[in-house]
Amino acid sequence: MWDIIIVGAGPAGMTAALYALRANKKVLIIEAKTYGGQIINASSIENYPGIESISGFDYATSLYNQVINKGAEIKYETVIHVDEDRVVTTDKGKYQTKSVILATGAENRKLRIEGENELVGRGVSYCATCDGNFYKGKDVCVVGGGNTALEDAIYLSNIVNKVYLIHRRSEFRGDEKYVEEINNINNIELVLDSIVERINGTDRVESILIKNLDNLREIKVDGVFIAVGQEPKNEIFKNVVDLDDKGYIISEDGVHTKVKGIYVAGDSRVKSLRQLTTAVSDGAIAATTAIKEAKEID
Ligand code: NAP
Repeated sequence: MWDIIIVGAGPAGMTAALYALRANKKVLIIEAKTYGGQIINASSIENYPGIESISGFDYATSLYNQVINKGAEIKYETVIHVDEDRVVTTDKGKYQTKSVILATGAENRKLRIEGENELVGRGVSYCATCDGNFYKGKDVCVVGGGNTALEDAIYLSNIVNKVYLIHRRSEFRGDEKYVEEINNINNIELVLDSIVERINGTDRVESILIKNLDNLREIKVDGVFIAVGQEPKNEIFKNVVDLDDKGYIISEDGVHTKVKGIYVAGDSRVKSLRQLTTAVSDGAIAATTAIKEAKEID
C-alpha cells in the first residue's frame, strides 16, 4: 500500500512528491511519457523566483533527481482508471494508495486540420527547441500568438533561413517585449489575421495553405511548428472529478476533488494563471493536504 500515488511527473506532481517524501511518506509517481511535463521543452525560464535563468530541461532534471534521490519510485505506465476507493489502474497493473494526487497537466492543442496528424515527425512539430536543429537553413512557419509561439519564432530565427509567424488575429497574446524583439528580426515575416487551412506534403511537409480574409495563399515551408496552447486530458477521471466545459478539473479550493482522498494539482485544474510558480505551489499544497487528511481516511 502506497501513502500517495501521484499521477504525472511534471513540476506540480514532482513538487507534491518532494513534500510527501520530506514527511516520510511512501510515494509512487506514475508517468505515461517522460518526467518534466511541458516545462522540459522551455528554452529558458526567467520568471521563477530566485533563479535568474535556467533551461526547462535543466530545471526538470534537477527536480527529478531531487525526488528520486529522496526515495520516490517512478513507474512509466499509463493510468487508465482511478476508482473512488483510490485504486489506480494502469496499462500494467493496479496500485492501492491512501491518497491520489492528479497532476496530469495539459498537452499541446492540435490545429485539427488536414495534414497535421499525417505529417507529425515529418515536418510537423510541437516543440521548436526539440526539433529546430533539423531545419538549419530552411524555411519554416510557427503557428500561434502566445508566448510560446513568439519564443519559438525568435529561437528558430537563429537557426533557419526564414520564419513565417502565422497568427489568427492582428494582435499577439504574448508579451510585448517578444513582439518588439520580433519586429527587429529580419528573417521573421508576420502573417496576421490568417489561419492555416491545410498542411501539404506526401512524405514530408512541403507547404501550407493559409487563409486571410477570404484570400488563399500557399507558402512553401519544410517545417510547421504549432504553438497554439494546451488542453487538459482529464476524461478518464470523470468518475471522480467534475470537469468544466474545457475539460479542466473543477476544485472549489484548488486542491480537493469531489472524492475524499483524491486531489488535484497543476495545470489540469481550473485556475487563473498556469505558470511554473503556480504549478509547484499547487503540488506543495496538495501533498500537505493529502498527508493531513489521510489520518481521517485510515
Ligand atoms: P496561449 O497563451 O494559450 O496562446 C495560444 C495562442 O494560440 C493564442 O495566441 C491563440 O490565439 C492561438 N490559438 C489557439 N487555438 C488556435 C487555433 N485553433 N488556431 C490558431 N491559433 C490558435 O499558449 P502558450 O503560448 O503555449 O502559453 C501558455 C502559457 O504559458 C501562457 O500563460 C504563457 O504566458 C506561458 N508561457 C510563458 C513563457 C515565458 O514567460 N517565458 C513562455 C511560454 C509560455 P488567440 O490569441 O487569438 O486566442
